Amino acid sequence: MSSVALQEFPAPVADLKHTLKEVFGYGQFRGTQEAVIQNVMAGHNTFVIMPTGAGKSLCYQLPALVIPGTAIVISPLIALMKNQVDQLGAFGVNAQVYNSTLTKTEMNRVKKDVINGDVRLLYVAPESLTKDDTIEFLLKSTISFVAIDEAHCISEWGHDFRPEYRKIRGIIDNLGGNVPIIALTATATPKVQLDIQKNLQMDDASVFKTSFNRTNLYYEVRAKHNTKKQLIQYVKGHKGKAGIIYCLSRKKVEEIAELLRVNDVRARPYHAGLDQQVRIDNQDAFLNEDCDVIVATIAFGMGIDKPDVRFVIHYDAPKSIEGYYQETGRGGRDGLEGNCLMFYSYDDILKLEKFSKDKPVTERDNAHQLLAEMTNYAESAVCRRRQLLHYFGEVMDTDCGFCDNCRHPKERFEGEAAVGLALRATVQTEARFNLTHIGQVLLGLSNPHIESYAHNALPVYGQGKALGDAQFWHSVLRQCLLNGFLEKDIDSIGLVRMSEKGLDFIERPYPITLTKDHNFDAEQRADEEKVEEMQAAGHDEALFGQLKELRKQVAKQKNLPPYVLFQDPSLKEMATTYPTTLHDLTHVSGVGQGKAQKFGAPFVAAIKQYVEDHDIETAEDVVVKSAVNRSKIKIYIIQQIDKKMMLEDIASSKGIGMAELMEEIEHICYSGTRLNIDYYLGEMVEEDRQEEIYDYFMSASTDNIAVAMQELGDDFTEEELRLVRIKFISEVAN
Ligand SMILES: [Zn+2]
Repeated sequence: MSSVALQEFPAPVADLKHTLKEVFGYGQFRGTQEAVIQNVMAGHNTFVIMPTGAGKSLCYQLPALVIPGTAIVISPLIALMKNQVDQLGAFGVNAQVYNSTLTKTEMNRVKKDVINGDVRLLYVAPESLTKDDTIEFLLKSTISFVAIDEAHCISEWGHDFRPEYRKIRGIIDNLGGNVPIIALTATATPKVQLDIQKNLQMDDASVFKTSFNRTNLYYEVRAKHNTKKQLIQYVKGHKGKAGIIYCLSRKKVEEIAELLRVNDVRARPYHAGLDQQVRIDNQDAFLNEDCDVIVATIAFGMGIDKPDVRFVIHYDAPKSIEGYYQETGRGGRDGLEGNCLMFYSYDDILKLEKFSKDKPVTERDNAHQLLAEMTNYAESAVCRRRQLLHYFGEVMDTDCGFCDNCRHPKERFEGEAAVGLALRATVQTEARFNLTHIGQVLLGLSNPHIESYAHNALPVYGQGKALGDAQFWHSVLRQCLLNGFLEKDIDSIGLVRMSEKGLDFIERPYPITLTKDHNFDAEQRADEEKVEEMQAAGHDEALFGQLKELRKQVAKQKNLPPYVLFQDPSLKEMATTYPTTLHDLTHVSGVGQGKAQKFGAPFVAAIKQYVEDHDIETAEDVVVKSAVNRSKIKIYIIQQIDKKMMLEDIASSKGIGMAELMEEIEHICYSGTRLNIDYYLGEMVEEDRQEEIYDYFMSASTDNIAVAMQELGDDFTEEELRLVRIKFISEVAN
């Protein structure tokens, strides 16, 4: 590996451009990159806030090639370091990792190379830096500057706090001299930004902040209701496009990946519990377009750079806006289509609250605060982009027109009086309280806090009752924040104070339009009612009639009882979802591959004709094929029956009773899989008795066991009937 030749310091602009082209292959800088690099080159402390995908790493990688010495890059994730070092290696840059994964020999080699000045960038984890040994060798080396990547890890107010990051300042001091620092992060609220600068003692740093606005991303939040169907519908609507689906648990990841697979989506799971090789294979398959959708825990996506991810779905609510922003940020990196869909339910938030139950108080409070912001975002009907940008300290004066709330506006109302009241309440409570408290004062509620501060004696006390409830006031107060009438108190989390604009509004109020929040519970109820209505209207009665008639004819031809072909619920489902291919037909419950092949053709043909005659649109009807019948125990049972294992042995080897085993077998059989249990039947039921039962099912109008018991009298046990029925269904119906 040849290293890039050093240039004279300071490098003129033309040389920077030359290096940019020669090493990284880019013709020009993007956004603030060049200004940042100049600042680093001049030896100043630099603070870079740049969203993912905007070219953050280049801000320290390029100067590291031009300034003499080795640049120390502090990074929290070993996998991320490795990735970057590999990429730099591919550009011909000598970059090395120095962390606990190295052997003693490797460590010594890296040390030697750094001391000799051969290494341009040295990636280290903060823990390694605290070791005396490391400090000692770094003191012998020439350090050009220190880059702190993912600098938000410093702040306990951020979403990814790493205690060891708080020691970085001390470590840099130990390195002696005046080593310049460049801190970089893709997520920082104003509070986190302040915290980072304080902790690193770089209040003097030049701050370069790139807008967080990703104009090509479409943000959307939907109620978490009928989610699997919505999900499949959505993914199929983006057929062949790359997408990431984030779930909170590994179990959910597996479940959703399987659900998508059985519904013909090329999907693979990704989570930390998978074998490393499987994980790498799945990630590669995604990058190489051998699979379209990755279902993952948030472990996925860091450090991968796939430009054409077209959708990012949050199946579960994220833990923080920062996380949400980062994850959605992986969509549409090429500036083209990028859809961000979140399924939201307040239950998810409660679940997440529980996770932090046993954490230390500060951490728990912080997690709570982050979740509260997440809830606000999801439930608010204000432009999503305005909210996101406001969260990161950017003000947008108008709505974006490109999010669900802009496209499908909720009810609006004239808010001059409400805003006036909310602001006066903030002033009268002396801007020392959070939104909930101010809301309670407006509603005239009583609690120890309100009493001890005598807030029940304020002029605004109870004045808001006539306008709305607690949710209403919470929403109005949040919109006061978004509109800049109130500001978050950066030193005390959760507290708000008045802005100039707010004080002006109290003096000279003017009309202002506010938006009512989403009420997802109510929206969900309305949805459910609609579905029920549709279900009550039910299937297509005319088609159902035709299919029943057809069933009778075909059964007659084949000399079989009609129920053997398809049972009524299956016909009704066909008359609801209109399957027009044998493949679609297998998605109907009660219809397996075997049954579709054996009896499906005339039914599919009839439905096709019907659909054409009546101009029926079927594309939007998505049938969710359940993944349940692939469960491990069923596969095990099928395998053991193939091996002719006695049923009792199968039951005992799985630790289940015979009754349960029979149910599983019947379930397998009724979902269309053929099972040959002749070896077992032969032992259990005499042949002529088998024949008698078999003949009965052949002529009966139903396969119901209770009816069979009545018809056949007391001569047969229920077990015998059920066993023969399995044989019958397997042979005749599947
Ligand atoms: Zn919008």
